[in-house]
Amino acid sequence: MADGFTLANLPYGSIRRAPAAEARLCVALGTEAIELAPLAKRLDGIPPELIDAPNLDRLLAADAIVWAELREALQRTLAADGPPPEASFPLDDALPCLPFTVGDYVDFYSSLEHATNLGRMFRPDADPLLPNWRHLPVGYHGRSGTVVVSGTPVRRPRGQRPGPDGPTWGPSARLDIELELGFVTAGAPNQLGEPIPIDRARERIFGFVLVNDWSARDIQAWEYQPLGPFLGKSFATSISPWVVPLAALEAHRVAGPAQDPSPLEYLRTSEPWAFDIELEVALQPAGHPSRTIARTNARELYWNPAQQLAHVASNGAIVRPGDLYASGTISGSHNGTQGSLIELTWNGERPLQLNGAARIFLEDGDTVTISGRTGAEAGGERVALGQVSGQILG
Ligand code: MN
Repeated sequence: MADGFTLANLPYGSIRRAPAAEARLCVALGTEAIELAPLAKRLDGIPPELIDAPNLDRLLAADAIVWAELREALQRTLAADGPPPEASFPLDDALPCLPFTVGDYVDFYSSLEHATNLGRMFRPDADPLLPNWRHLPVGYHGRSGTVVVSGTPVRRPRGQRPGPDGPTWGPSARLDIELELGFVTAGAPNQLGEPIPIDRARERIFGFVLVNDWSARDIQAWEYQPLGPFLGKSFATSISPWVVPLAALEAHRVAGPAQDPSPLEYLRTSEPWAFDIELEVALQPAGHPSRTIARTNARELYWNPAQQLAHVASNGAIVRPGDLYASGTISGSHNGTQGSLIELTWNGERPLQLNGAARIFLEDGDTVTISGRTGAEAGGERVALGQVSGQILG
């Protein structure tokens, strides 16, 4: 997936060159990772401590003018002189760490098609959308401490599973994926009690990662009422190693779907805040070839990142640098465009036929890889988001 790591992209990551080495802040360019600290002398006006760092934390604490200056300076020097030889090494040798220290983690439910699919499945005789859905981006606070970087194995969670004779305790038998797009916030936090107006979203959204929000459907189904997702979600959430700056996606911003009814004033924006990002999910059973099981696009998401951010802070809650906000499962309405196994198999009615293996939910040894890149319509170069991958352990 190095394809799309161009100078127009220049995503940031926290990378070790060897298992015992320290993590260093890097950018990805072509097939190489480039450590930033050795470039400090070339970057006039950029405080060296921002890049002589293990990860993105210090840069996220700086303001949007600094992010833009660093990005321009890096593009200029890498275009003119290339990376210093001692700073670059093959992406194939890069051992990714979490690119930033994850602060608060919020997961939304922003895909109309996903919310509709689940509503049809679980409330077949009622309106698939609950009455609040078209008025606010529904979400919940998740567990930041178990957000892990791509490549980290995911142990099958144990928990209470519902059954005909009451709950039993044991490994989840309905382990699922959720294909999502997440953004990380940056810049000076708002004061407690002070909302973030939607037209200031650009100053607080640093960049994007791919997210796999692993979900134990049996644990979730038993525990979630009346307070929402809990242990069926909090055991692991995987993110991709490279944070793609918002600035790299400017040419791929598109108008989202029309919103009817028109949202309340604090959620209204005239900017195009949807992103033309093609997404793919591949499943590889142990010992079998990998197979693409879903293809979709983030551009149809009903609620966009600016609305999500404005909504989170609308009650005066503080948004800090390093908070992670995930979109919720991204699904289309057609077969093969859904971002979860529960939808792809329609709650088990249509098992997926892989090469030599059938699946409803994940089995031990399965590896799931989500990849993403911008669409081609903008005419320019595609921008890769890379991949987020994880293997299920028993
Ligand atoms: Mn989710």
